[in-house]
Amino acid sequence: MSEELKQAFAPSYKHLIYKDASELKLLESVLDEMRKTKLGRQLIADAEAYGTTVEMTSGMRAIGSFDEFTKKIRLNSSYGKDGLVGTLSHEMRHSQQFQKGLRFDALLDTPTSYIQNQTIIEADASVAATEVCYELATQGNSGPLEELRKKDAHIVNPFQNEAIQGNLANGGAHKAAFYGWYTDYFMRDAYETNYCKMYRQRYQDSTHEESDKKMTRTVPVRETIDLVCQYGGKPYLGKEADDFFASEEMHTVSYERFNMIYGRIWSDPDVDYKEGADAVMMKKFGLKQRPHYGYMPAKKPPELLGPVPTVESRQAEAAQKIAETKASKAETQTAKVVNKILETKTR
Ligand SMILES: [Zn+2]
Repeated sequence: MSEELKQAFAPSYKHLIYKDASELKLLESVLDEMRKTKLGRQLIADAEAYGTTVEMTSGMRAIGSFDEFTKKIRLNSSYGKDGLVGTLSHEMRHSQQFQKGLRFDALLDTPTSYIQNQTIIEADASVAATEVCYELATQGNSGPLEELRKKDAHIVNPFQNEAIQGNLANGGAHKAAFYGWYTDYFMRDAYETNYCKMYRQRYQDSTHEESDKKMTRTVPVRETIDLVCQYGGKPYLGKEADDFFASEEMHTVSYERFNMIYGRIWSDPDVDYKEGADAVMMKKFGLKQRPHYGYMPAKKPPELLGPVPTVESRQAEAAQKIAETKASKAETQTAKVVNKILETKTR
């Protein structure tokens, strides 16, 4: 590529990795769209400052991923712009979360601690993606929001319903979307599987000193919530979150993962395997098994209360109100005139 061409294709984001001009063009169009929103601009600025690379990859199963160790975002090149706006927002939110100083260690943390904290950052990243796409929809571009709704209606619909009821500025939309994430047991199982994979990798590479302390540390969910669950600098979760994460439901893993975790400890000197897996896992980690996701209630996104109010629709609504007020004023005036005429006639 000539210097001139390089100049012409100079990426607007410092750490873009791309193969050719068409990949760059797609990445730029995604960044452009994100930059039309306040949160999108912040996510891009933070990821750039953190040194997070963004790369297009073919042949990956997910739409996107963020590696907290290499600070690398990968985007699936078989998706188009509308799908990637939500995805890049989600992955850049992960970058921002780790930039803020999350404490995560698949080896040292207890399974309950790691799994709960992991769900918090996942739900929060989905909330952030919804916020960006929703703001674009209010500006008249509903493409990214509709793409997101195709896979995450159980998150997007609660957000939209709260927003049109006037709960966008007070964080109610974010909160509803956050809890919506937990209604998808397939996803929850997928991240618990991911935890088991991360644990195995960490265990294989660990020193004796580290493996002696395996699964003993608790990072309070409050710490993670206070760090990441924010919109416009304000928290969107309240005290209800503490009860939510203390609930029995949030101390369950799927049957398969339950047995994987038990398999790591059953021969430990402090464990009496004769007590049985259920008793041991409850005593050690407060964990219970839940059925395979196929037997759990299917995620049901709530019905939409109405369309996203766009700038245009709000202007039209305001114009109609003005017209109605004018019409009713005119009516009263006509009535007054008629009354006057009648008054003069009867006088
Ligand atoms: Zn994620």
